[in-house]
Parts: sequence; structure tokens; C-alpha cells
Amino acid sequence: MQHLLEPASWKPLQSWLADRRQPAFRAAQIRRWIFERRAESFEDMSDLPKALRADLAAEFTLWTARIARHSQSADGTEKLLLELADGGRIECVLLRDGDRRSICISSQVGCAMGCVFCASGLDGVDRNLTTGEIVEQMLRLQRLLPPDERLSHIVVMGMGEPLQNLDNLLPALAEASADDGLAISHRRITISTVGLPKPLLRLTQYNLAVSLHAPNDELRTRIVPTNKSTGLADILAAADQYFAASGRRLTFEYVLLAGLNDQPQHAEELVDLLAGRTALLNVIPYNPVAGLPYETPSGNATNRFRDILLAGGLNVKFRQRKGDEINAACGQLRRITPQVNTPTSSPRAGLQIG
Ligand code: SAH
Repeated sequence: MQHLLEPASWKPLQSWLADRRQPAFRAAQIRRWIFERRAESFEDMSDLPKALRADLAAEFTLWTARIARHSQSADGTEKLLLELADGGRIECVLLRDGDRRSICISSQVGCAMGCVFCASGLDGVDRNLTTGEIVEQMLRLQRLLPPDERLSHIVVMGMGEPLQNLDNLLPALAEASADDGLAISHRRITISTVGLPKPLLRLTQYNLAVSLHAPNDELRTRIVPTNKSTGLADILAAADQYFAASGRRLTFEYVLLAGLNDQPQHAEELVDLLAGRTALLNVIPYNPVAGLPYETPSGNATNRFRDILLAGGLNVKFRQRKGDEINAACGQLRRITPQVNTPTSSPRAGLQIG
């Protein structure tokens, strides 16, 4: 069975159709059914000859993963737990915000980066996702929308480190932005990375978010272990090169962890580190993860932190938490749903985007 969501399957499909003396427009017609008309199966493709639909289903498949769980949160966030053909499990999320319909997708089964506060890397990494599996997440989430709504944004901020799987990720994003794919412009696609300096420059077509989390190497290495070999200086240099090459404003992400990186001196160091750069600092109050000891800072600590950043002239945004009641918020995606639910009663920072 060939996975039709793998871009590499389209050539074989075309010759397969030609062998069956099908008209030249068939492949485009099938693509339209998949990306635009949201077919669930070949059977759904009602303007294809019936026998052809059956033959297609015998040779090709649209889906390789099973939806193992579909969770919905009161704020409109929906999360899918997908079980892959080899039993691996990943999660992906649909977020609603005004007119925006954003999806957050995974790039690996698990994660090897080992950031101490994140659920995705608790059990290490199993493997990279295939291009087809990445496209499949997009299309499964798309099909949760009513027919008159379309996906508007993609963030690659789910499980895994995207820069370790660029060879499979980039073709999937090409399908997302293609006119005969999901037609989501590059400007609405963001890749979030722990910050591996070398591959950053392959991403100049897309928005880039670099997970900073600390203003100095000593602290960053403690909470983001990969920093030991990369170091902040190299990451910032690569980020500057990205900006020079792309002209796109860079985003730095900063997960605020109570007592660890949320002190006034950290905010002051951040101002020194980032002042003068065309960048947005996206501060994410920590989303609790079952079994991990970290805590969301109090509203007071968060406000104090923000005030120092603003006084220092940084461009700052505090991320609104979404989907935490179904563990779909940043850093809460994991392979195995834990028995104990993450507490949702943790202090909320009570902040808004802006
Ligand atoms: N590996 C990539 C993408 C996945 S994580 C990266 O490191 O950027 C997406 C974002 O969520 C990262 O900034 C990550 O550090 C952050 N994150 C991880 N765990 C979190 C948590 N428990 N609460 C809030 N944000 C978290």
C-alpha cells in the first residue's frame, strides 16, 4: 500500500492512472478531493468512476494512523492522539482564536532534546515522522473544521525537534503551502526549535521561533541540555543570519518557570541580550506537566518580569494559555497519556496577549 499523503506517491499514482487509461486530469482531481474537499476515503470521491475508486483503495491509502483519542476543551481547542502504523503515538492540536484556525503539529515520536520541563521528551525519541505522517496530522485536524472554515496557520511546536527532521518536514510544509495543497502561505507557518545553529538557515522561507528559556549559558544548559554543545552565542549569531537572509522578525520563546528563570535579574539579562535585535520575545507561563516539579510563576512575579522587559524596550508578548484542560498546551504533548491528570488549578498568570 502506498501512502498517498507522501508527496513521492504522486508520480507512481500518475503512471498507475495512465496505465488504466484514465484522463490526465484525474490526479489533480484526486488531490482536490484530499486537500480541499476533505474526502475521508476514495469511496467519497463521488465524481470518480466507481471501479476506479475501488482499485485506488486496493493500491493506495490516505490514512496510516488511527485516531486513538479526540479531546475537546471548552476554549475550542481540540487535540488528536494518533496511533501510527508501527504503534508509535503522537499528538497534534487545533486552536481557535478569533478568525484564526491554527494547528500545532509534531515532527518526531518523542523528543531527544531533554528540556527538563517538557512532557514530550520524558521518554526520549523513537523516530522521525515521515512526510506523509506530518501531512496526515494537518489533514486530520483540517477535517475537524466545519466546511466553511479553513486552516489559517501552522506551528511546528508539537512533539519533537523539527530541525532534526527537516528532510521530512520541509516537503510536508511545501504541501501545506502549495496552491493545490492546503494553500497556507509561508508567512503563516512557524517552526519552533530548541536552537540548533547549523540548520537554522534552511528555514528562511518560514517564521522561526527559537526556544531561549534562559538569558545565560549556565542557566540555559541546566534547563535545555543541548545548550551545552550549542551555546547561546552561536544560536544568536545564527538567528541574526536568519534575519539578515529572510528579513523576517524572529521570535524567541521563554517558558517562565517559578523561581528558576523568572527573577528580576533574569529579565535584566534578557534585556541586555536581546536589545537592538528585531525580535519578539514570546513569554509562555509554564504549563504544568504531571510528574514534573516545576511551577507556574505567580501573577506578581510574572508582572514584575514583564515590566522589566517592557522598560528595557523589548518587544514582548505573553502567550495566552490554550487547551491546558486537555493537556494540549505547549509542552504538554506526550506519547502516553498519564494516569494522573495534570492539575489545572495551578495559579494562572492572568495575562493576555499583547
Ligand atoms: N523542540 C521545539 C518545538 C517543541 S516545544 C522547541 O524546543 O522549540 C514548543 C515550545 O513549547 C517550546 O518553546 C518549548 O520549550 C515550550 N514548552 C515545552 N514545555 C512547556 C511547558 N510545560 N510549558 C510551556 N511551554 C513549554
